[in-house]
Amino acid sequence: MPSVFIKTYGCQMNERDSEQVARDLQDRGHKLVSRESEADVILLNTCSVREMAERKAIGKMGMLRKLRRENPLLVLGYMGCMAQRLGESLKETSPHVDLVVGTQKFHRVADYVEEALRKREEAFALEDVTELGMAIQPILPIIDTAPEEGSQNTIRDHLPKRKEATAFLSIMQGCNMHCTFCIVPTTRGAERGRPIEEIVGEARRLVENGIREVTLLGQIVNLYGRHEFPKVGDRSPFVQLLDALHEIEGLDRIRFTSPHPMGFRKDLVECFARLPKLMEHVHLPLQSGSDRILKAMHRPYTAASFRKLVGDLRASRPGIAVTTDIIVGFPGETEEDYRASRDLSEELEFDGAFIFRYSKRGDTPAAEMKEQLSEEEKEIRNQDLLSVVNASASRKLEACIGTHQEILCEGPSRNDPNRLSGRTRTNKIVILEGGSRFHGEIFDVTITSASASTLYGDPAIHAGE
Ligand code: SF4
Repeated sequence: MPSVFIKTYGCQMNERDSEQVARDLQDRGHKLVSRESEADVILLNTCSVREMAERKAIGKMGMLRKLRRENPLLVLGYMGCMAQRLGESLKETSPHVDLVVGTQKFHRVADYVEEALRKREEAFALEDVTELGMAIQPILPIIDTAPEEGSQNTIRDHLPKRKEATAFLSIMQGCNMHCTFCIVPTTRGAERGRPIEEIVGEARRLVENGIREVTLLGQIVNLYGRHEFPKVGDRSPFVQLLDALHEIEGLDRIRFTSPHPMGFRKDLVECFARLPKLMEHVHLPLQSGSDRILKAMHRPYTAASFRKLVGDLRASRPGIAVTTDIIVGFPGETEEDYRASRDLSEELEFDGAFIFRYSKRGDTPAAEMKEQLSEEEKEIRNQDLLSVVNASASRKLEACIGTHQEILCEGPSRNDPNRLSGRTRTNKIVILEGGSRFHGEIFDVTITSASASTLYGDPAIHAGE
């Protein structure tokens, strides 16, 4: 059977979608390979959040074209957000591409891949094989970016990877919030949640396969199901889902990303006090500390309400880690607006933050706003804010030195396969020495040192159990 290589750009949702496609292809007998040079099918799962991400994927596809000289049957495809956004126009940008499959059609990729393989074989049979260059002729590409009702329910079965202890679990697709800088509502469509019982069923299957931690995924994950499923008592559909997952025996840790500050009502804040399997980490996108800019971004909260929410979360679960996303250089951001983001970041002492220089995205209201800042101004603010958030992240890591931390060991460290890597309940990476018997285990380590982004634990102390 043909072999497939999938390259994923962007967020965890994309990783999860790629896993689903990989699983579907594997179920049909295709072999997954880790090198593009060995593949008969190469799929790029793309991201549209920043222009640079799109350029990278298009550049990559351009480079892949040369592989077709060696393998004339090679199928090349785009899927995901950029495929959704640019659709037909990719025929012009990447004329050698066979597939363009949008965000509501991941479950159809396996069919389309097989169709494209057939088309390539037919085209090859008709070509004059002695003719140099015949191998790179395009076939009529398959393009499907149409919306499909119920597509959120098709991202469900995982590709079981041996010895993995953590998994992403997609609970919803799309977003109705329409932040003025964001392309996601265009690329992912309107909010659609999967039924609770289906998600719980998938989580049970994951646990049967050795998974101990799940991360629930959605563009605005904590607003899950708000249009489809009723509240029960004062509990939102998302809190009902957390309650149901918490009941699963063998599931030890629950995380979720990315939430919207608006989705943190009292019932969810209280979960951190009453559900011990809910890990003490929240990624809470601030985006700006200026009320004026928040309004222009169409983010319906204020700096004061965000500050209160962080306080409430920290009161509900002392020691909870809070990380964030902040955009600098949004159109019209004055020095005073920027200061407000900087001051709030200093005050709230985040455990980590992603700082983004505002990047214009076509088809978004912010791209049309008049007062666009220069790249130079954005870069100055970016570097300055990075120094603030990196300093607080370092302080948080240093504060862990000498403490005992519960970790889930995820396997060999990426940077040093001779050592192990795990995550604390607060989502900090810990590197430690040890053998394979620790894989997938939850245990305490003593933190002995910290670098700028990583903790180091002492396995000797743990081994003294
Ligand atoms: S809530 Fe998130 S995904 Fe939705 S529009 Fe805003 S930034 Fe984009």
